[in-house]
Amino acid sequence: MDIELLKEISSSIGGKNAPPIVDILFDKRNVNEFIIAKKLGLTINQARNILYKLSDDGLVSSTRKKDKKKGWYTYFWTFNIDRALLLLQKGLRNEIEQLEHQLKSREIKRFYICKICNTEITEENALLNDFACPECGEIYEMNDNKKAVAEISSAIKKAAKKLEEVENEITFIEGKKLKKHEREKKKQEKDKVARRKLSNEKRKRSRMASLKKAHAGKNSKKIQAAKLKKKTPKNKTKSKK
Ligand SMILES: [Zn+2]
Repeated sequence: MDIELLKEISSSIGGKNAPPIVDILFDKRNVNEFIIAKKLGLTINQARNILYKLSDDGLVSSTRKKDKKKGWYTYFWTFNIDRALLLLQKGLRNEIEQLEHQLKSREIKRFYICKICNTEITEENALLNDFACPECGEIYEMNDNKKAVAEISSAIKKAAKKLEEVENEITFIEGKKLKKHEREKKKQEKDKVARRKLSNEKRKRSRMASLKKAHAGKNSKKIQAAKLKKKTPKNKTKSKK
């Protein structure tokens, strides 16, 4: 993972103090905000302000813990690489789209420049100003589109390369997640089988136990009945007589 890309998106969202936060949070989870502030050399409120800005776009997320004695909350922060990659992807796609639009207009439109002010305008606007710069009066010259086309093309190439890198990383992370999910599913399945086996055994054992008990009960009844029988014959013979 190219950490520079993560810093780039963080800086565009959280400002110039945001990139060092990526260094602090990268590959860690739930980092104490006081440690972040200390490492940044900022006050806790300054650090929080940057973290809140980043969290508005989902780049970081937090859990909080209440200090039981003091009664205040401390926040613990995690950098969300998935979210950063998606934002980068979206931004780069937009950038490429805009550059391609510019490239197209270079192919069909003419542009003029004022060499004094170093400004460029479309042919329509140059015409409106009678081909003279309204700022300095210099006559506009037609700009060389080739140079602009080359610049835009190289910018597109650069953005496309970055986009490819970002998308490879997204695919890699998704693959890793899928594997983890499959591992968890397998483990769940295994646990389920083990639980079922255990509960079957338990049921069997308790059935055996109750059978034994019932058997023992019957036996004791038999014994009692036998005892009674021993007494009854005398009575019976007496009653018969
Ligand atoms: Zn000018």
